[in-house]
Amino acid sequence: MEIKTFGVIGAGQMGAGIAQVAAQTGYRVIMRDIEQRFVDGGMAKIEKNLARQVDKGRMTAEDRDAVLSRIEGTVPVDPLAEADFVVEAAIENIELKRKIFTELDGLCRPEVILASNTSSISITEIGAATGRPDKVIGMHFMNPVPMMKLVEIIRGLATSDETYQAVHDMAVAMGKTPAEVNDFPGFVSNRLLLPMINEAIYCIMEGVGTKESIDTVMKLGMNHPLGPLELADLIGLDTCLAIMEVLHDGLGDAKYRPCPLLKQMVAAGHLGRKTGRGFYEYG
Ligand code: NAD
Repeated sequence: MEIKTFGVIGAGQMGAGIAQVAAQTGYRVIMRDIEQRFVDGGMAKIEKNLARQVDKGRMTAEDRDAVLSRIEGTVPVDPLAEADFVVEAAIENIELKRKIFTELDGLCRPEVILASNTSSISITEIGAATGRPDKVIGMHFMNPVPMMKLVEIIRGLATSDETYQAVHDMAVAMGKTPAEVNDFPGFVSNRLLLPMINEAIYCIMEGVGTKESIDTVMKLGMNHPLGPLELADLIGLDTCLAIMEVLHDGLGDAKYRPCPLLKQMVAAGHLGRKTGRGFYEYG
């Protein structure tokens, strides 16, 4: 099926980034969130990103206007009935994702592929909440979506080869490089990344080093572009905690227990850049 209308669930940092790249690819985009202020926040982020592209001479003002004109924000879910493809980027919570996929299954045409941008949650379990598990797949973009080349594509147990190929080809059309992985907690990206971030948080809690020294060791010593604590703030500490819980529950190994300091920071609402305060403070 030719994809013309691209649905996005969630207008947070990932949903807005995916909507932007999809519109830049030429798709008509419908981006849905639960309140108008979240939709407006996502649109504002896209406008700011595109304005930066224009300022740097990488995009003309006409192209920016054309990209923006292709994105429609919505709070009601009904416009998504027109979508030829939907990717979900709501918060990292299995009950919520199951509910969203059951709703989308009832709303979208039977041939429409339903993808999740989940960081860690089982695609097989999300697919089981629908009557089309062969058309449910993980399409895991990286943050920030317009800049990062990778899309991790996750096959659930029931995902068909046709669905995989369609999403693979779409990722390439969007200028991304796909990596195929199977459906185990955290997939590959977060099975490797999050235990490192969690261990960095233990290093602060146990007084092994300051946040600055931990980040400096990893940036200058391991050539990482961001230190693990800067990266945790970028991802969002609530998302980091949710991923550690999925790894811990799903793999049943104590080595994945979330650091108590991470839990405490989430309880305090210090979620990183998105709330202005995490391990660092943001103006
Ligand atoms: P975020 O908190 O910035 O945004 C989530 C958005 O989802 C919010 O605007 C919220 O209002 C909205 N939402 C909640 N319930 C909804 C519903 N029923 N329908 C529509 N929208 C709903 O979170 P994020 O960082 O954009 O993460 C979104 C997803 O992407 C998560 O599953 C996360 O694990 C995954 N992810 C995050 C990153 C990252 O670095 N932050 C990277 C890759 C994948």
